[in-house]
Amino acid sequence: MQPLPHAREGALEGSLQPAGTISTCLGEAARLAPFGGDRSATAEAVAFALASRLAELEARGVPIPVVVLEVRRASEAEVLGSCIPWLAARGRRVLVRTRVVLPRSAVVALAACGGVVALEIASGRAPVQAALLGPAAAPAERLLLHAQYLAAQGVAVTVALGPVVDGWHEHLERTRPMWRHIVAADVRDATLWSVPLRPRQREALRGCGWVEPFWEAGGVPAGTRLALVRASIRREAEAAGVRIAHCGCSGSCHLGAEPSGYVPIAAPELFPRAS
Ligand SMILES: [Zn+2]
Repeated sequence: MQPLPHAREGALEGSLQPAGTISTCLGEAARLAPFGGDRSATAEAVAFALASRLAELEARGVPIPVVVLEVRRASEAEVLGSCIPWLAARGRRVLVRTRVVLPRSAVVALAACGGVVALEIASGRAPVQAALLGPAAAPAERLLLHAQYLAAQGVAVTVALGPVVDGWHEHLERTRPMWRHIVAADVRDATLWSVPLRPRQREALRGCGWVEPFWEAGGVPAGTRLALVRASIRREAEAAGVRIAHCGCSGSCHLGAEPSGYVPIAAPELFPRAS
């Protein structure tokens, strides 16, 4: 494989970061995190970045039919309007996971290809949302208003509820109003996700009244406790009319349009002008 021209390499590194892969019903999904604040990330640089990331993954001989674009700040959403059409044109299913409101360019691109948006919500309470998802995350209320706008534009929406926290989310008086608001926003699908909390998140959540459980309380291991919390959330969500992981994975594969025209990423795709 030829090296990338130096100038392009810099722009490439500045526009997309790989964040691993996940398994979905449709196959392996690449998780990519747009990198915010880089005004030099032109549409051409974004295309090179996407081709490079997918080529790296597909070089293992595994197709990547799904791409999850993970957005944490408004500045990171700017490149979506370039990323989404490029991926859709090559037959990739696009799922945007976001904790911020998306710009119009991204919404238009998602509507055109039948892409899906997963809104990251940790809590209906703004201080808890900020504690768990960071100060740049929009409050749940704003994200659910955005859900209605997305649906009106023809974009399928789901909620990615998390990170699920032991000692917080099993208290149904805290989560019940949130499910009501989700249903009121006409969202009927959700997935649950968990990650180990960082010290900053733990401290911020304690400030919201969280009492960290004693992990071995009653002899129940931490993993079992978290599974019980997730089961409790699932019951609450389903009672409210929201399906959890309906397709059987975290990719919400039953939503949006079926992708078609899969094009493997090969060297000529990476270097269309050099070949
Ligand atoms: Zn699935």
